[in-house]
Amino acid sequence: MLKIENLHASVEDKTILRGINLEVKAGEVHAIMGPNGSGKSTLASVIAGKEEYEVDNGSIVLEGEDIGELEADERAHKGVFLSFQYPVEIPGVTVTNFMKTAINETRKAKGLPEMPANEMLKLIREKSELLEIDRKFLSRSLNEGFSGGEKKRNEIFQMAMLEPKLAILDETDSGLDIDALRIVANGVNKLRSKDNATIVITHYQRLLDYIVPDYVHVLYNGRIVKSGGKELAHELEEKGYDWIKEEVSA
Ligand code: ADP
Ligand code: MG
Ligand code: MG
Repeated sequence: MLKIENLHASVEDKTILRGINLEVKAGEVHAIMGPNGSGKSTLASVIAGKEEYEVDNGSIVLEGEDIGELEADERAHKGVFLSFQYPVEIPGVTVTNFMKTAINETRKAKGLPEMPANEMLKLIREKSELLEIDRKFLSRSLNEGFSGGEKKRNEIFQMAMLEPKLAILDETDSGLDIDALRIVANGVNKLRSKDNATIVITHYQRLLDYIVPDYVHVLYNGRIVKSGGKELAHELEEKGYDWIKEEVSA
């Protein structure tokens, strides 16, 4: 699904990623953890193709295609989804209508006609039932007065509707309460399939009690310095990151 090799990237001429190697296969969930400032959000942004970030070396290959030179929207159309950390409020545009537009834009980019209304309704019904989202929520104005949990619910709904091949969830919001954590975790678990892959970036070990990752990677100073199974997350919860920093400098 995704193969990153020797990825070096910078922002505003400052080198942040210093040789990332990461392979994510279809069906897998990978967690990326690490101390603040280690480059986790930068990695997410670079994979998604945000333009402030410069790839200086290495490659990002999605299903055999090097996507490193593509614009963010082209990558999105190829199935890369990055959760929005700072959701915009769009008064007057409902959760549903925003989604309809997003889906039809993606179809247009692929040369497909608009999704027929009955098919769209069926898709909305199917996904909202799967995620236990009620109708009232779907007709609310996008992000207007949303609680932290509702923002997460909307994000997960967007992910469900767009059916990405590779979803990257960057949980930077320190205000995530237990309800929001559960919404994210339930969504990821229900949307998991053998055909997609998920990268969850988090410093909450707690989130990984609900989403059980296949692999956990620790990012430190722009490099993946340790990888393991789900038990690595527990070890980090217990011992923090200092032992990793010591191992790296030894
Ligand atoms: P993490 O998500 O692991 O906390 P980040 O990727 O957000 O780490 O940040 C890594 C480093 O890159 C930090 O020093 C941060 O200040 C810097 N950085 C990230 N994005 C930008 C940006 N858009 N402009 C300037 N510096 C940035
Ligand atoms: Mg940060
Ligand atoms: Mg971050």
